[in-house]
Amino acid sequence: SSSRNFIPSIIIGVVGHVDHGKTTLVQALTGIWTARYSEELKRSMTIYLGYAQTSIFHCSNAEPPDSYVTSASSCGENAEPRYLKTVSFVDAPGHEILMSTMLSGASLMDAAIVVVAANEPCPQPQTREHVKALEILEIDQVVVVQNKVDVVSRENVMTNYRQIREFLESTRYSKAPIIPVSALHKANINAVAMAIAKLFKEPERILGKPAIMQIARSFDVNLPGTRPEKLVGGVVGGGLVRGEISVGDEVEIKPGARIETKGKVKYEPLVTEVVSIRYGDMESDVAKPGGLVAIGTKLDPSLTKNNRLVGQVLGHDVPDPVNDISIEYRMLDKVVGARELETPPQLKNRDKIILIVGTAPTIAVIQKISSDVMEVKTENPIVVFDKSKAAILAQVKGRWRLVGWGSVK
Ligand code: GDP
Ligand code: MG
Repeated sequence: SSSRNFIPSIIIGVVGHVDHGKTTLVQALTGIWTARYSEELKRSMTIYLGYAQTSIFHCSNAEPPDSYVTSASSCGENAEPRYLKTVSFVDAPGHEILMSTMLSGASLMDAAIVVVAANEPCPQPQTREHVKALEILEIDQVVVVQNKVDVVSRENVMTNYRQIREFLESTRYSKAPIIPVSALHKANINAVAMAIAKLFKEPERILGKPAIMQIARSFDVNLPGTRPEKLVGGVVGGGLVRGEISVGDEVEIKPGARIETKGKVKYEPLVTEVVSIRYGDMESDVAKPGGLVAIGTKLDPSLTKNNRLVGQVLGHDVPDPVNDISIEYRMLDKVVGARELETPPQLKNRDKIILIVGTAPTIAVIQKISSDVMEVKTENPIVVFDKSKAAILAQVKGRWRLVGWGSVK
């Protein structure tokens, strides 16, 4: 059916330094302002991972890049819009203190747009740190958007462009295209749509294995005061790593519900039925890898409200969570998230670090460490599947910074 066509095929991360225009760019592409929480609106800052999706069409009556549009009606009369693809966006926070949230979103990304504001020298610290994260997670499909070109002179746009090029030379992305835009004035957004259509390819998906979905958001969608008989169950949002989930399926969520008795915390896996599946505004009967999906369940919404299940894993046969893990790791040459480049700290036994495994950030304490393997005890149990990657943050001059990465053994 036609609605099947609108299931996104790829998840695109939108990353970069705070205030460079990531959320504005997502709005220009999708019409959606991803900041929804009152705290985000009040501080006009992205705090949680934002979600949006759009379809891309090609108009027969225009030349590229203008022929690439994000709504069929923009082709105008006498044109034949051709549907190309639907994509999801994860809008990451750019603030330095929200690096673990950015990394938890990065584990969902198949491709990324790095937004760089033309009115500041490049690279800014989180431009560097986010690009480093993309490299660590081996996200190869990257396009750079040079934003805010409306507020700088033509000459300064060129100077900034050269700075961006030079910065990219030192990364895995020396060949990434740089597209100048004004997200605020929706100028040259067609060129971004064209790059998404032509350059970003859907990775090979694994469908024949039990479904695994990484949860990146969770909500209670009931308005306050809803009558009990009208209440709907908890909703979780995220991306499938593999497999398929259909309406009516029984699924489990691990680690599950946090239960505290007499100061002792334990987690109990949740089992529930999938009652609805949504991609953006579109209802679907099936969820597959490729887009950001919202799954409606029969869970008590108090279990899912306020992003309580972020970092958990939903699926058909979810491995049991663990607290003791062993990571084959490497440190970065330089810590890039602060203004001044620093040498990474020498990690040792009993050091506290933050690990991000999949979408799950957790504090962990190092139990044993050699030059390439560390054994850690995590504060929260985490689900490890396939060859989960781990990003490692440590305190550097009082701030949590990306210092290394590894794979969970
Ligand atoms: P984020 O932190 O990267 O998500 O940045 P936002 O999208 O929240 O934008 C930060 C500020 O920059 C807001 O005040 C935007 O209106 C402004 N902004 C974003 N894009 C542009 C642009 O292309 N031109 C101008 N002049 N301002 C922009
Ligand atoms: Mg933002």
